[in-house]
Amino acid sequence: SFKALVADQADGKAQVGLTRWTDADLPEADVTVAVAWSSFNYKDGLALTGKGRILRRFPMVPGIDFAGTVIRSDSPDFKPGDAVVLTGWGVGESWSGGFAERARVKSEWLVPLPEGMTARHAMAVGTAGFTAMLAVMALERHGLDRTREILVTGAAGGVGSVAVRLLAGLGYTVAASTGRPEQADYLKSLGASVIVDRNELAQPSKPLTSERWGGAVDTVGGTTLASVLAGVAYGGAVAACGLAGGADLPTTVMPFILRGVSLLGIDSVNCPKPRRQEAWTRIARELPPETLDAVTTEVALEDLPRLAEEILKGQVRGRTVVRIGE
Ligand code: NAP
Repeated sequence: SFKALVADQADGKAQVGLTRWTDADLPEADVTVAVAWSSFNYKDGLALTGKGRILRRFPMVPGIDFAGTVIRSDSPDFKPGDAVVLTGWGVGESWSGGFAERARVKSEWLVPLPEGMTARHAMAVGTAGFTAMLAVMALERHGLDRTREILVTGAAGGVGSVAVRLLAGLGYTVAASTGRPEQADYLKSLGASVIVDRNELAQPSKPLTSERWGGAVDTVGGTTLASVLAGVAYGGAVAACGLAGGADLPTTVMPFILRGVSLLGIDSVNCPKPRRQEAWTRIARELPPETLDAVTTEVALEDLPRLAEEILKGQVRGRTVVRIGE
Protein backbone atom coordinates (compact mmCIF):
# COMPACT_ATOMS: atom_id res chain seq x y z
CA SER A 1 0.00 0.00 0.00
CA PHE A 2 1.03 3.62 -0.37
CA LYS A 3 0.21 6.99 1.18
CA ALA A 4 -2.54 9.00 -0.53
CA LEU A 5 -4.49 12.17 0.11
CA VAL A 6 -8.01 11.07 -0.84
CA ALA A 7 -11.12 13.16 -1.44
CA ASP A 8 -14.41 11.43 -0.78
CA GLN A 9 -17.99 12.54 -0.54
CA ALA A 10 -20.01 12.21 2.65
CA ASP A 11 -23.54 13.62 2.85
CA GLY A 12 -22.93 15.45 -0.43
CA LYS A 13 -19.88 17.24 1.02
CA ALA A 14 -16.31 16.61 -0.12
CA GLN A 15 -13.95 15.41 2.61
CA VAL A 16 -10.22 15.17 2.25
CA GLY A 17 -7.93 13.02 4.36
CA LEU A 18 -4.64 11.12 4.38
CA THR A 19 -5.06 7.38 4.03
CA ARG A 20 -3.44 4.34 2.41
CA TRP A 21 -4.39 3.06 -1.02
CA THR A 22 -3.34 -0.02 -3.01
CA ASP A 23 -2.75 -0.28 -6.76
CA ALA A 24 -6.29 -1.69 -7.08
CA ASP A 25 -7.68 1.70 -5.98
CA LEU A 26 -6.00 3.47 -8.92
CA PRO A 27 -7.74 3.88 -12.28
CA GLU A 28 -6.86 1.44 -15.10
CA ALA A 29 -4.22 2.74 -17.54
CA ASP A 30 -0.95 1.67 -19.15
CA VAL A 31 1.68 3.45 -17.01
CA THR A 32 2.20 3.39 -13.23
CA VAL A 33 4.43 6.10 -11.74
CA ALA A 34 6.15 6.39 -8.37
CA VAL A 35 5.41 10.04 -7.66
CA ALA A 36 8.42 11.92 -6.28
CA TRP A 37 7.04 15.48 -6.23
CA SER A 38 3.75 17.17 -6.93
CA SER A 39 2.90 20.86 -6.71
CA PHE A 40 0.12 23.02 -5.39
CA ASN A 41 -1.87 25.14 -7.83
CA TYR A 42 -4.90 27.45 -7.57
CA LYS A 43 -7.07 24.70 -9.07
CA ASP A 44 -5.96 22.32 -6.30
CA GLY A 45 -7.16 24.94 -3.82
CA LEU A 46 -10.56 24.96 -5.52
CA ALA A 47 -10.59 21.13 -5.54
CA LEU A 48 -9.65 20.62 -1.88
CA THR A 49 -12.09 23.21 -0.57
CA GLY A 50 -14.91 21.94 -2.81
CA LYS A 51 -15.26 25.41 -4.39
CA GLY A 52 -15.57 25.53 -8.15
CA ARG A 53 -16.60 21.86 -8.38
CA ILE A 54 -13.27 20.65 -9.74
CA LEU A 55 -13.48 17.03 -8.54
CA ARG A 56 -15.68 14.96 -10.84
CA ARG A 57 -15.60 11.55 -9.18
CA PHE A 58 -15.16 10.07 -5.70
CA PRO A 59 -13.17 8.69 -4.05
CA MET A 60 -10.13 10.09 -5.82
CA VAL A 61 -6.70 11.59 -5.28
CA PRO A 62 -6.51 15.31 -6.17
CA GLY A 63 -3.31 16.93 -7.49
CA ILE A 64 -3.23 18.26 -11.07
CA ASP A 65 0.47 17.61 -11.69
CA PHE A 66 3.35 15.35 -10.67
CA ALA A 67 6.85 14.22 -11.57
CA GLY A 68 8.34 10.82 -10.81
CA THR A 69 9.66 7.53 -12.13
CA VAL A 70 7.85 4.90 -14.19
CA ILE A 71 7.56 1.62 -12.24
CA ARG A 72 5.34 -0.31 -14.66
CA SER A 73 4.51 0.25 -18.31
CA ASP A 74 2.47 -1.53 -20.95
CA SER A 75 3.35 1.23 -23.41
CA PRO A 76 6.26 1.02 -25.87
CA ASP A 77 6.92 4.73 -25.17
CA PHE A 78 7.98 4.28 -21.53
CA LYS A 79 9.91 1.70 -19.51
CA PRO A 80 10.50 1.29 -15.79
CA GLY A 81 13.04 3.82 -14.57
CA ASP A 82 12.02 6.57 -17.02
CA ALA A 83 11.61 10.00 -15.44
CA VAL A 84 8.32 11.64 -16.42
CA VAL A 85 6.21 14.77 -15.87
CA LEU A 86 2.45 15.13 -16.02
CA THR A 87 0.30 18.26 -16.09
CA GLY A 88 -3.36 18.58 -17.04
CA TRP A 89 -5.56 16.15 -19.02
CA GLY A 90 -8.14 16.22 -16.22
CA VAL A 91 -5.78 14.44 -13.83
CA GLY A 92 -6.62 15.62 -10.30
CA GLU A 93 -10.12 16.49 -11.56
CA SER A 94 -11.74 13.38 -13.06
CA TRP A 95 -8.75 11.03 -12.71
CA SER A 96 -6.64 10.33 -9.61
CA GLY A 97 -3.63 12.62 -9.52
CA GLY A 98 -0.40 13.65 -7.85
CA PHE A 99 -1.15 13.81 -4.12
CA ALA A 100 -0.22 10.13 -3.55
CA GLU A 101 2.94 8.04 -3.71
CA ARG A 102 1.61 6.31 -6.84
CA ALA A 103 -0.35 7.35 -9.90
CA ARG A 104 -1.57 5.36 -12.88
CA VAL A 105 -2.17 7.34 -16.08
CA LYS A 106 -2.38 7.06 -19.86
CA SER A 107 1.02 7.05 -21.54
CA GLU A 108 -0.02 9.75 -24.01
CA TRP A 109 -0.46 12.19 -21.12
CA LEU A 110 3.16 11.85 -19.98
CA VAL A 111 6.10 13.96 -21.08
CA PRO A 112 9.67 12.68 -20.55
CA LEU A 113 11.43 14.77 -17.89
CA PRO A 114 13.59 17.17 -19.94
CA GLU A 115 17.33 16.54 -19.98
CA GLY A 116 19.05 18.16 -17.01
CA MET A 117 15.87 18.66 -14.97
CA THR A 118 15.08 16.95 -11.66
CA ALA A 119 11.57 15.95 -10.60
CA ARG A 120 11.61 18.68 -7.92
CA HIS A 121 12.65 21.32 -10.44
CA ALA A 122 9.88 20.21 -12.82
CA MET A 123 7.34 20.64 -10.03
CA ALA A 124 8.78 24.01 -8.97
CA VAL A 125 7.65 24.93 -12.48
CA GLY A 126 4.52 22.72 -12.39
CA THR A 127 1.21 23.52 -14.04
CA ALA A 128 1.45 27.21 -13.15
CA GLY A 129 4.95 27.63 -14.59
CA PHE A 130 4.08 25.57 -17.65
CA THR A 131 1.08 27.87 -18.18
CA ALA A 132 3.31 30.94 -17.84
CA MET A 133 5.58 29.47 -20.54
CA LEU A 134 2.56 28.84 -22.83
CA ALA A 135 1.47 32.45 -22.28
CA VAL A 136 4.90 33.81 -23.16
CA MET A 137 5.07 31.58 -26.26
CA ALA A 138 1.63 32.85 -27.38
CA LEU A 139 2.73 36.47 -26.94
CA GLU A 140 5.92 35.77 -28.89
CA ARG A 141 3.98 34.16 -31.75
CA HIS A 142 1.86 37.29 -31.86
CA GLY A 143 4.93 39.53 -31.63
CA LEU A 144 5.79 41.83 -28.72
CA ASP A 145 7.00 45.45 -28.86
CA ARG A 146 10.35 45.42 -27.03
CA THR A 147 10.21 49.18 -26.45
CA ARG A 148 7.16 48.89 -24.20
CA GLU A 149 6.47 47.46 -20.76
CA ILE A 150 4.94 43.99 -20.59
CA LEU A 151 2.45 43.68 -17.72
CA VAL A 152 1.94 40.62 -15.52
CA THR A 153 -1.12 40.61 -13.21
CA GLY A 154 -1.37 38.48 -10.06
CA ALA A 155 2.40 38.76 -10.26
CA ALA A 156 3.26 37.33 -6.83
CA GLY A 157 1.25 34.15 -7.49
CA GLY A 158 2.48 30.98 -9.20
CA VAL A 159 1.74 31.74 -12.86
CA GLY A 160 2.61 35.40 -12.26
CA SER A 161 6.00 34.83 -10.59
CA VAL A 162 7.19 32.49 -13.33
CA ALA A 163 5.88 34.82 -16.07
CA VAL A 164 7.80 37.76 -14.54
CA ARG A 165 10.98 35.68 -14.39
CA LEU A 166 10.60 34.36 -17.95
CA LEU A 167 9.83 37.75 -19.54
CA ALA A 168 12.65 39.49 -17.64
CA GLY A 169 15.02 36.69 -18.67
CA LEU A 170 14.04 37.27 -22.31
CA GLY A 171 14.99 40.94 -21.95
CA TYR A 172 11.55 42.54 -21.75
CA THR A 173 10.81 45.40 -19.36
CA VAL A 174 8.33 43.85 -16.95
CA ALA A 175 5.63 45.65 -14.97
CA ALA A 176 4.31 43.48 -12.13
CA SER A 177 0.85 44.12 -10.73
CA THR A 178 0.25 42.90 -7.19
CA GLY A 179 -2.12 43.45 -4.29
CA ARG A 180 0.78 42.74 -1.93
CA PRO A 181 3.07 45.80 -1.87
CA GLU A 182 5.29 43.94 0.65
CA GLN A 183 6.23 41.62 -2.24
CA ALA A 184 7.79 44.44 -4.29
CA ASP A 185 11.37 43.40 -3.44
CA TYR A 186 10.56 39.77 -4.27
CA LEU A 187 9.12 40.79 -7.66
CA LYS A 188 12.14 43.01 -8.38
CA SER A 189 14.44 40.11 -7.53
CA LEU A 190 12.62 38.13 -10.25
CA GLY A 191 13.33 40.92 -12.73
CA ALA A 192 10.31 43.25 -12.54
CA SER A 193 11.23 46.89 -13.28
CA VAL A 194 7.95 48.50 -12.29
CA ILE A 195 5.45 47.58 -9.54
CA VAL A 196 1.79 48.39 -10.24
CA ASP A 197 -0.78 48.50 -7.41
CA ARG A 198 -3.51 45.93 -8.07
CA ASN A 199 -6.17 48.57 -7.17
CA GLU A 200 -5.16 50.70 -10.16
CA LEU A 201 -6.44 47.93 -12.44
CA ALA A 202 -9.31 46.70 -10.27
CA GLN A 203 -11.50 49.79 -10.88
CA PRO A 204 -13.81 49.77 -13.92
CA SER A 205 -11.93 51.74 -16.58
CA LYS A 206 -12.91 53.69 -19.68
CA PRO A 207 -13.07 51.51 -22.84
CA LEU A 208 -9.65 52.90 -23.82
CA THR A 209 -7.00 54.47 -21.61
CA SER A 210 -3.54 55.72 -22.55
CA GLU A 211 -1.48 53.18 -24.46
CA ARG A 212 0.83 51.75 -21.84
CA TRP A 213 1.44 48.01 -22.24
CA GLY A 214 3.12 46.32 -25.17
CA GLY A 215 1.40 43.13 -24.01
CA ALA A 216 0.32 41.33 -20.87
CA VAL A 217 0.00 38.02 -19.07
CA ASP A 218 -3.23 38.14 -17.07
CA THR A 219 -4.00 35.63 -14.31
CA VAL A 220 -6.77 37.66 -12.66
CA GLY A 221 -9.62 38.08 -15.20
CA GLY A 222 -12.67 40.21 -14.38
CA THR A 223 -12.39 44.00 -14.16
CA THR A 224 -8.59 43.66 -14.06
CA LEU A 225 -8.46 42.03 -17.50
CA ALA A 226 -10.86 44.67 -18.84
CA SER A 227 -8.58 47.47 -17.52
CA VAL A 228 -5.52 45.76 -18.94
CA LEU A 229 -7.13 45.51 -22.40
CA ALA A 230 -8.03 49.22 -22.26
CA GLY A 231 -4.38 50.12 -21.70
CA VAL A 232 -2.67 47.90 -24.29
CA ALA A 233 -0.84 49.82 -27.00
CA TYR A 234 -1.74 49.57 -30.69
CA GLY A 235 -1.31 46.01 -32.03
CA GLY A 236 -0.46 44.49 -28.65
CA ALA A 237 -1.84 41.30 -27.11
CA VAL A 238 -2.97 39.92 -23.77
CA ALA A 239 -2.62 36.25 -22.84
CA ALA A 240 -5.62 35.37 -20.64
CA CYS A 241 -4.63 32.60 -18.24
CA GLY A 242 -6.74 32.83 -15.13
CA LEU A 243 -9.67 33.93 -13.02
CA ALA A 244 -8.19 34.62 -9.58
CA GLY A 245 -10.20 37.87 -9.52
CA GLY A 246 -13.29 36.66 -11.41
CA ALA A 247 -14.52 34.78 -14.46
CA ASP A 248 -16.44 37.70 -15.96
CA LEU A 249 -15.01 40.12 -18.51
CA PRO A 250 -16.75 43.51 -18.41
CA THR A 251 -15.06 44.99 -21.48
CA THR A 252 -16.02 46.61 -24.80
CA VAL A 253 -14.87 45.83 -28.34
CA MET A 254 -12.98 49.16 -28.51
CA PRO A 255 -9.48 47.79 -27.78
CA PHE A 256 -9.98 45.17 -30.51
CA ILE A 257 -11.48 47.36 -33.26
CA LEU A 258 -9.72 50.67 -32.61
CA ARG A 259 -6.29 49.45 -31.51
CA GLY A 260 -6.07 46.03 -33.11
CA VAL A 261 -5.45 44.49 -29.70
CA SER A 262 -5.61 40.66 -29.50
CA LEU A 263 -6.87 38.51 -26.66
CA LEU A 264 -5.03 35.19 -26.63
CA GLY A 265 -6.59 32.29 -24.73
CA ILE A 266 -4.24 30.01 -22.79
CA ASP A 267 -5.18 26.47 -21.82
CA SER A 268 -2.68 24.14 -20.21
CA VAL A 269 -4.99 21.15 -19.63
CA ASN A 270 -5.60 19.96 -23.20
CA CYS A 271 -2.58 21.65 -24.77
CA PRO A 272 -1.50 19.42 -27.71
CA LYS A 273 1.60 17.27 -27.27
CA PRO A 274 4.00 19.05 -29.70
CA ARG A 275 3.43 22.37 -27.96
CA ARG A 276 3.81 20.68 -24.56
CA GLN A 277 7.17 19.24 -25.56
CA GLU A 278 8.28 22.61 -26.93
CA ALA A 279 7.23 24.36 -23.72
CA TRP A 280 9.11 21.89 -21.50
CA THR A 281 12.22 22.15 -23.68
CA ARG A 282 12.15 25.92 -23.32
CA ILE A 283 11.45 25.69 -19.58
CA ALA A 284 14.55 23.51 -19.14
CA ARG A 285 16.62 26.08 -21.06
CA GLU A 286 15.19 29.32 -19.72
CA LEU A 287 14.36 28.50 -16.10
CA PRO A 288 17.45 26.86 -14.59
CA PRO A 289 16.76 25.58 -11.04
CA GLU A 290 18.47 28.49 -9.27
CA THR A 291 16.12 30.98 -10.95
CA LEU A 292 13.22 29.30 -9.17
CA ASP A 293 14.80 29.06 -5.71
CA ALA A 294 13.31 32.36 -4.56
CA VAL A 295 9.92 31.38 -5.97
CA THR A 296 9.65 27.93 -4.38
CA THR A 297 8.29 26.79 -1.00
CA GLU A 298 8.40 23.12 -0.02
CA VAL A 299 5.52 21.45 1.85
CA ALA A 300 4.24 17.96 2.76
CA LEU A 301 0.89 16.31 1.98
CA GLU A 302 -0.28 17.12 5.53
CA ASP A 303 -0.02 20.86 4.78
CA LEU A 304 -2.37 20.88 1.79
CA PRO A 305 -5.80 21.40 3.40
CA ARG A 306 -4.44 24.57 5.08
CA LEU A 307 -2.77 25.74 1.86
CA ALA A 308 -6.03 25.27 -0.04
CA GLU A 309 -7.65 28.01 2.06
CA GLU A 310 -4.60 30.26 1.76
CA ILE A 311 -4.19 30.03 -2.03
CA LEU A 312 -7.83 31.00 -2.62
CA LYS A 313 -7.29 34.07 -0.42
CA GLY A 314 -4.26 35.05 -2.55
CA GLN A 315 -1.88 34.49 0.35
CA VAL A 316 0.45 31.96 -1.26
CA ARG A 317 3.59 33.43 -2.84
CA GLY A 318 5.18 31.95 -5.95
CA ARG A 319 5.22 28.18 -6.34
CA THR A 320 4.69 25.41 -3.81
CA VAL A 321 6.30 21.99 -4.31
CA VAL A 322 4.83 19.01 -2.46
CA ARG A 323 7.28 16.34 -1.30
CA ILE A 324 5.68 12.97 -1.95
CA GLY A 325 8.01 9.99 -2.40
CA GLU A 326 11.37 11.71 -2.14
P1 NAP B 1 -1.95 31.82 -7.26
O1 NAP B 1 -0.57 31.37 -6.97
O2 NAP B 1 -2.94 31.89 -6.17
O3 NAP B 1 -1.85 33.26 -7.97
C1 NAP B 1 -2.95 34.08 -8.15
C2 NAP B 1 -2.59 35.51 -7.83
O4 NAP B 1 -3.64 36.37 -8.27
C3 NAP B 1 -2.45 35.80 -6.35
O5 NAP B 1 -1.20 35.47 -5.85
C4 NAP B 1 -2.69 37.30 -6.31
O6 NAP B 1 -1.49 37.94 -6.76
C5 NAP B 1 -3.74 37.49 -7.41
N1 NAP B 1 -5.10 37.54 -6.86
C6 NAP B 1 -5.69 36.63 -6.04
N2 NAP B 1 -6.95 37.00 -5.75
C7 NAP B 1 -7.17 38.17 -6.41
C8 NAP B 1 -8.27 39.06 -6.49
N3 NAP B 1 -9.42 38.82 -5.86
N4 NAP B 1 -8.14 40.16 -7.28
C9 NAP B 1 -6.99 40.41 -7.92
N5 NAP B 1 -5.90 39.61 -7.86
C10 NAP B 1 -6.00 38.51 -7.12
O7 NAP B 1 -2.59 30.89 -8.40
P2 NAP B 1 -1.88 30.22 -9.71
O8 NAP B 1 -1.75 28.78 -9.47
O9 NAP B 1 -0.73 31.05 -10.12
O10 NAP B 1 -3.07 30.44 -10.78
C11 NAP B 1 -3.41 31.75 -11.17
C12 NAP B 1 -4.66 31.72 -12.03
O11 NAP B 1 -4.37 31.08 -13.27
C13 NAP B 1 -5.82 30.94 -11.42
O12 NAP B 1 -7.04 31.56 -11.75
C14 NAP B 1 -5.72 29.59 -12.09
O13 NAP B 1 -6.95 28.93 -12.12
C15 NAP B 1 -5.26 30.00 -13.47
N6 NAP B 1 -4.55 28.95 -14.20
C16 NAP B 1 -4.98 28.69 -15.46
C17 NAP B 1 -4.34 27.75 -16.22
C18 NAP B 1 -4.76 27.53 -17.63
O14 NAP B 1 -4.52 26.46 -18.18
N7 NAP B 1 -5.36 28.51 -18.25
C19 NAP B 1 -3.27 27.02 -15.67
C20 NAP B 1 -2.82 27.33 -14.38
C21 NAP B 1 -3.49 28.32 -13.65
P3 NAP B 1 -0.92 39.28 -6.04
O15 NAP B 1 -0.90 38.99 -4.57
O16 NAP B 1 0.40 39.51 -6.64
O17 NAP B 1 -1.91 40.39 -6.38
